[in-house]
Amino acid sequence: MTAARTVESEIIVIGAGIAGASVAAELAQQAKVSLLEMESQPGYHTTGRSAAIFVPSYGPPSIRALTRASAAAFLDPVSTLGVDRLLSPRPVLMMARGDQLESLDKLKEEVAANTPIQDLTASQVEDLNPLLRPGYAAAGILDVDSYDIDVDALHQAYLRKFKSNSGRLFTNARVEGIAKAAADWQVETSAGTHRAPIIINAAGAWVDDINTMAGLAAIGLVPKRRTMIVVDPPAGFDIASLPMTADVDEQFYIKPEAGQLVLSPADETPSPPCDAQPEELDIAIGIDRIEKAFNFPITRPKSSWAGLRSFVADGVPVVGFADPSNSFFILAGQGGYGIQTCPALARLAAALVTGKAIPPDIVDQGLVISELSPDRLNCPHKDPVRS
Ligand SMILES: Cc1cc2nc3c(=O)[nH]c(=O)nc-3n(C[C@H](O)[C@H](O)[C@H](O)COP(=O)(O)OP(=O)(O)OC[C@H]3O[C@@H](n4cnc5c(N)ncnc54)[C@H](O)[C@@H]3O)c2cc1C
Repeated sequence: MTAARTVESEIIVIGAGIAGASVAAELAQQAKVSLLEMESQPGYHTTGRSAAIFVPSYGPPSIRALTRASAAAFLDPVSTLGVDRLLSPRPVLMMARGDQLESLDKLKEEVAANTPIQDLTASQVEDLNPLLRPGYAAAGILDVDSYDIDVDALHQAYLRKFKSNSGRLFTNARVEGIAKAAADWQVETSAGTHRAPIIINAAGAWVDDINTMAGLAAIGLVPKRRTMIVVDPPAGFDIASLPMTADVDEQFYIKPEAGQLVLSPADETPSPPCDAQPEELDIAIGIDRIEKAFNFPITRPKSSWAGLRSFVADGVPVVGFADPSNSFFILAGQGGYGIQTCPALARLAAALVTGKAIPPDIVDQGLVISELSPDRLNCPHKDPVRS
């Protein structure tokens, strides 16, 4: 019997969701990259379960900066990713009841400088979404630069770009052991052994499991389950041009998708990393919140799904080397924004991994790179496991 061959690369990326696929695609142009994915289908976990929205006014300042720096790639995908179209217009209406006006004012103040938004009166809110109960909303804002994202097309485009630059994708390759062997990392998977001097940990909800496997400190990542519910639209009502409509305190949102309405209670229940499934209680809460705000009957959900949005304590992504020898890089904690920010995050991570200058269009958005570094989390450095 011959021993299984060890695959040698310059960079190993763990996880082929949107984070791993996009950074691997950026790096394959400059280095020999292997992309390891435990599932048979990249995108099976969080990437394939999102609400698929690009919203410039959403998230903390660093996310909004990364979203702005990602807009060009989404708006001109032919030159960046070789696909015709990734976005379709879908304005986002953030609305407030009378008791939520303070939250709306705070949001306006935060986003006004960088995001074109329209102020809305109660009657303008109702005109934009006639399904709302009359009198429910007291005011709102409209983010007119928001879009539906074709997430599958985006993910596949990055995987194609990766492979066309000789990147190698290994599916059904669950990483089970990581150790330092001389200058290289040796990575044992369910489908064979890989070696490379640099690892990028882009394992989504499993990032801390991978860190721990390598003998490095956990970053305190908390996966949080979010539930999505598909319901029939009211009979005879054309929903296609409705805005995505969200509660300003993120208690719920609803949007049209492929002729159905998709709604969410915007739940954030901490969960271990897993194949997340929707819970009956969250479905019931979601429907109840929507029925309080909207004036159409929901008989029973047509289908539902759940996914994990993963955050560290400050809600800002973690992008940078985690070990003193700059050989183990983390790309994690994208929360509920990992699709809309992936073009900028991938270019930023690729520049940091290769020691190149950060692309100026990212710096110009006012992003403070040190605020993304794992160093800010004060995780104690540990010595990697040695084989
Ligand atoms: C309900 C919901 C709505 C969302 N809506 C939006 C939205 O509208 N807009 C937006 O921008 N973002 C949204 N997000 C967030 C976005 O989906 C995530 O930020 C993004 O998908 C994270 O990508 P990822 O590659 O880090 O994770 P994942 O897609 O989970 O990829 C990680 C990969 O690592 C693999 N892996 C893990 N462990 C191992 C191992 N040991 N060996 C090998 N492989 C391993 C997994 O199999 C997985 O494929 C939403 C998320 C959810 C759940």
